[in-house]
Amino acid sequence: MAKLVFADKKSQRDDVTASRQGWKVLIVDDDAEVHTITELALRSLTFLGRPIEFLHAYSGIEAREVLARAPDVSLILLDVVMETDDAGLRFVEHVRGEVGNTKVRIVLRTGQPGQAPEQDVILRYDINDYKAKTELTQQKLYTTVITALRGYQDLIALDSGRQGLRKIIDASATLMQSRSMQMFASGVLTQLSGLLGTTGCGILCTQAEPSETADLTIIAASGKFEPLLSSPSETAAPDVIGRIRSVLASRDTVIADTHTILYLRTPNYRDVVIYVEADRPLEELDRSLLEVFGTNISIGFDNLEMIDRIVQNNEVLERRVIERTRDLHDREARLLTIMEASPIAVAILKLEDEQPIFANSRFYDLLGLTAEQTDGITLAKLFADPADRGRVKSALAGETGLISDLEISLNRPQGDSFWGLLSARRLVVDERDCALVWLYDISQRKEMERELRQFATTDHLTSVANRRHFLEKATLEFERSRRYGHPLTVIMADIDFFKTINDTHGHQVGDRVIRDFARTLQSCLRGCDLVGRLGGEEFAVILPETPAAEALSAAERSRAAIEALEVTLPDGNSLRFTASFGCASRNESDASFDATLARADAALYRSKEGGRNSVTAAD
Ligand code: GH3
Ligand code: MG
Ligand code: MG
Repeated sequence: MAKLVFADKKSQRDDVTASRQGWKVLIVDDDAEVHTITELALRSLTFLGRPIEFLHAYSGIEAREVLARAPDVSLILLDVVMETDDAGLRFVEHVRGEVGNTKVRIVLRTGQPGQAPEQDVILRYDINDYKAKTELTQQKLYTTVITALRGYQDLIALDSGRQGLRKIIDASATLMQSRSMQMFASGVLTQLSGLLGTTGCGILCTQAEPSETADLTIIAASGKFEPLLSSPSETAAPDVIGRIRSVLASRDTVIADTHTILYLRTPNYRDVVIYVEADRPLEELDRSLLEVFGTNISIGFDNLEMIDRIVQNNEVLERRVIERTRDLHDREARLLTIMEASPIAVAILKLEDEQPIFANSRFYDLLGLTAEQTDGITLAKLFADPADRGRVKSALAGETGLISDLEISLNRPQGDSFWGLLSARRLVVDERDCALVWLYDISQRKEMERELRQFATTDHLTSVANRRHFLEKATLEFERSRRYGHPLTVIMADIDFFKTINDTHGHQVGDRVIRDFARTLQSCLRGCDLVGRLGGEEFAVILPETPAAEALSAAERSRAAIEALEVTLPDGNSLRFTASFGCASRNESDASFDATLARADAALYRSKEGGRNSVTAAD
């Protein structure tokens, strides 16, 4: 959009007076007297407020020179017979043909009425009139000249109209752009000035805010003002712009002899000024035509600005959406990369069907699945304990939607299972309820825990309960038997002369004997009976729900089995040994397990005293 800022205030009055020039009429005749009479007859003639300005040539050749200097000649009064019989017609051929001037009007004149030109010449060369030189009276010439000048003026108007139309047609293809709008408006302005019979020079401009210094926006410019559209800084018409500014300030239309400045205000409160150069003050009808034009074009311009703004806003919005989408996409890709690279199994599962939206490779590896296999595999099949699945689902559906460090056993399709540490959090992805799940393989830890537990409770040589674990369990069993009044018997057992075995065969054989003894003892008892190694080659057994007689026979069974046992030594020989047993059942006077155990120990002592390899009941 053109914005004008004028610094130079130099007058350009020459331009303005140029439009007041007279109509150029060229008299071509070899008879000087004809020149004088013609000029005399037409001297006082004015047409549309402009006088006649005479140019003279006395031969066809000279006429060419004059026309070359003054191409804007309106009318040629041309003698046919001059230096040759057809010098006049040759000149006509030159004007219409070589020069290509189709606007200048030509009136042929000849001395003899018989020398009238052929009809086709009149048509071909667009001859306006044919006169005998005798018709030189003022009245006759007047009519001829005014008719010719009007014809000339119409041709000029038609031509500027054609130029205006070309601009309009060019602009209409892309009218919804401000540059086209300017072209369109300028075209209309050119055509309007032509219609009004003005010089075709005009400006249509607006001011966004009423101020002395505010920029003017040129919406349209025609004629000599046209360059303002493309290079607004040009100080082409500082005078004209000064006049436009004062009209904007006063908001009053100015009608002068040389120009008309219309002030308008559009329904959108836009100040609009149309400056039109004219040879005469514009009439009421002309002004209203210009007003309608100015108002319509300005409203169109307002709409165009609005469309521009909407388009711009739209573009900004679209750009933002694209950037934002790209941004989100980048972020999502980054997040997925991070999740994929995680050493922990991560997945996002839909709550409704428990299918993954995303799962990293670690997740698939851990569950022994491939990405394709997840179709149709639901968590239900993965949970070793169905109760775990219920716990997970209700925790995710609960208020916090959080699960942290839940130990669960999971199945693999291959048939094995593993322990996992599960953490999860409910979240919404693509408007669907999902769970972000972290799964950590804790099988190793679980195995270590199991080993530790075993290590803490069993005797590593014999794999029976160690002393501490045996006493703990025995105490519990003792309490339970007392509470329910059920029987409970304790057997104490000790290998006979073990020191001698050690001394004779070495410590390793001694260990082997201890192991075989424990295994044999266990094999003679029920699964619910607990064997413990109290120390060295001394063992104890608790027999829950067992009265003394039953326990005694179990002890006897054990003693006999030990006695029958043959231990093969490294040298191939075999070794046999015996053990002594003492049994005591809980009785009402036993305050604790220790008391029962002490009575069993006393019974064992008596077996030793009585010669070993025997079973003794307490008391
Ligand atoms: P008694 O018939 O009176 O029971 O005599 P004993 O020799 O069996 O009993 P004693 O208490 O005199 O000797 C037990 C020996 O067992 C002493 C100790 O060096 C040995 N001993 C204790 N623990 C172990 C062990 O884990 N392995 C081996 N090889 N010997 C052990
Ligand atoms: Mg012993
Ligand atoms: Mg001993």
